[in-house]
Amino acid sequence: MVAKAPVRLIPLGGLGEVGMNCMVVESGEDRVVIDCGLMFPSGEAALGVEVIAPDLSYLKSLGRPPDAVLLTHAHEDHIGALPYLLREFPDVPVCGTKFTLALVKEKLAEHGISPRLMEVWPRGLGTAGKSLDFEALQVPHSIPDAVGYALRTEAGLIIHTGDFKIDWSPTDGRLLDVRRFAELGEEGVACLLSDSTNAEREGTSISEREVGESIQRIMAGPLARGRVVVSMFGSNIHRIQSVARAALALGRKICLLGRSMTTNVRLARDLSYLRCPPDLFIDPDSADHFAPRELVILATGAQGEPRSALSRLALGEHPTVRLEKGDLVILSSRVIPGNDRSVGNIIDHLVRRGCRVLSSVSGSSELIHTSGHACQGEQRMMLDLVRPRSFLPIHGEYRMLAAHARLAESAGVAARACIVAEDGDAIELRPNEIAAVQRAAVGTGRVYLDARTAADGVGEVALRDRQLLAETGMLVCLLFLDRKTGDVVRGPELLAKGVAGFDETRVAQARRAAFDALEALQPAQRTDHASVEEALRRGVRSAWKRGVEKRPMVLPIVIEM
Ligand SMILES: [Zn+2]
Repeated sequence: MVAKAPVRLIPLGGLGEVGMNCMVVESGEDRVVIDCGLMFPSGEAALGVEVIAPDLSYLKSLGRPPDAVLLTHAHEDHIGALPYLLREFPDVPVCGTKFTLALVKEKLAEHGISPRLMEVWPRGLGTAGKSLDFEALQVPHSIPDAVGYALRTEAGLIIHTGDFKIDWSPTDGRLLDVRRFAELGEEGVACLLSDSTNAEREGTSISEREVGESIQRIMAGPLARGRVVVSMFGSNIHRIQSVARAALALGRKICLLGRSMTTNVRLARDLSYLRCPPDLFIDPDSADHFAPRELVILATGAQGEPRSALSRLALGEHPTVRLEKGDLVILSSRVIPGNDRSVGNIIDHLVRRGCRVLSSVSGSSELIHTSGHACQGEQRMMLDLVRPRSFLPIHGEYRMLAAHARLAESAGVAARACIVAEDGDAIELRPNEIAAVQRAAVGTGRVYLDARTAADGVGEVALRDRQLLAETGMLVCLLFLDRKTGDVVRGPELLAKGVAGFDETRVAQARRAAFDALEALQPAQRTDHASVEEALRRGVRSAWKRGVEKRPMVLPIVIEM
């Protein structure tokens, strides 16, 4: 008898980076994709790139679509790359909980895609392909309706936690389904895939309820003399609920700014994930009819994104809402490393307007944010509940995955069964054995996109050019040749963009050097465009001193007349 193919776990994103989570699970003939997310370039090194998606060529190379996409929750780093997957495989069923699917539907509509949606609910069962049974598992996270999944594969039970934390007093009362995780653990779990985002943080994460209460105290306290702005991710409906409660108690109205804030709140209210009277919300256009003390503004942009609602408020560019002396701004989110400078800039503008700002960047000791991800104490509890035979840390940069693997080892998982893998590796599972890894089994990578709706990536070469252009600028060198004789009719002429030291003397020097380089060519080379272009490039560049100045990028253009 031929040995059966192993069950394979193939991460296409999210192992080695925070973001673009995407995990392929193959069991027998069945194949599912768990999450398909985006990543955002951080800081100033964006080079025009707005979003980064995982390279899905592996899935495309298989010749048939996956049997299902299972979504854990609706954060961008879990659902954002769905358009690129669905453009390739439009008929794949997309499974997720109610709130997740509502957001997915809305986002995909922007791309002109109407997906095949299949709702799942905690402890609900489904089957992908012929026989890959799955079950959704309730987990708390910083967005409503998050789940993990249990998959019944040919190599046994696999559990994928999704993003999770363990919050014993969540604002929506939706606890981790400890009992179900323990039951599955009792049954025997071949492999646990668990969220590693906070694997370097000891202890446990603070409950969302405590943060909500702290923000409510601040809103009722002496700092809140004028308008109160709370800036945060629009998808953190739990925190929005806390702010809404405080607003209601204090007689303030809520004004929503930012597209994702407005969309998330609308969906959450429609589906009853957010409960508050309809007249609590006012239109931004009527904000100036209210006294500062009567307003709470919920705004996106706490990561310092340019053009976001918060950035416009800080710069005084919002058409109807203006901040002034006495207003309070709470930046209720963790600043992603790389974004500190732009957040710092926004805080400077706000403080210049006379606002008081509470933020982790400006060293505030107030409790204004908590993570949606498990810290070591919670990760350890998940390991103790599930007691897996093999362990695969997911969602994190390499050091976070490594820290999580060490934790699993200390929790009793065999050292060689704690696997630190990266995108493109294949983790192979056989019944009753521990996992084996095939390194770099499939091609992976990143697709850089200038806009969310762009169909084509920028490409590594183009990105390198952009980097070079930013660093050195560019010179265009034009040369006109006689078509018949190959003699120079005009030029070389130089045009510069962003080049230092571009003046008359330098132009003359560069032209002379280019001319000399042309003269030095063998007669046969003079009719060869590539040789002529190379001579121009060499000549022009030599006018900038090597090792002293930045030599510009030179683009030679030869025109025959
Ligand atoms: Zn998440």
